[in-house]
Amino acid sequence: MSLGPEELKKVKAELSQRLTTLQENVHSRVAGVNSEGELDRGGSDRGDESNRELERDLELTNADRETYEIQLVNGALQRIERDEYGVCLDCGEEINGNRLLANPIAKRCLDCQTKHENDFDERDATPSL
Ligand SMILES: [Zn+2]
Repeated sequence: MSLGPEELKKVKAELSQRLTTLQENVHSRVAGVNSEGELDRGGSDRGDESNRELERDLELTNADRETYEIQLVNGALQRIERDEYGVCLDCGEEINGNRLLANPIAKRCLDCQTKHENDFDERDATPSL
């Protein structure tokens, strides 16, 4: 474990707080989108409607992104519970403590993360013939 008990406690508190914030955000976005949907049925002029649709799309995109982040934060909290936190998913080495403090949801050490992202880019860039 690359973090001391005090640091781990801090990270855990940060993650829990982040989780609460994210859950509240997603909840209010989804609630907002739903209630707007009700109002729209009254029928207003088209410009208004498409603006509102764009806003709704944006809200849903944000909600999606936040839902994904909730999974990452939950995963990190579970790793803390299981004493698996701070170990690289790929190489099994300890993740640098400063990296964890800067990015508590990190699952990989910097080397593996860089490699992972490069692999990802390459796959995406390769034309499927
Ligand atoms: Zn690694």
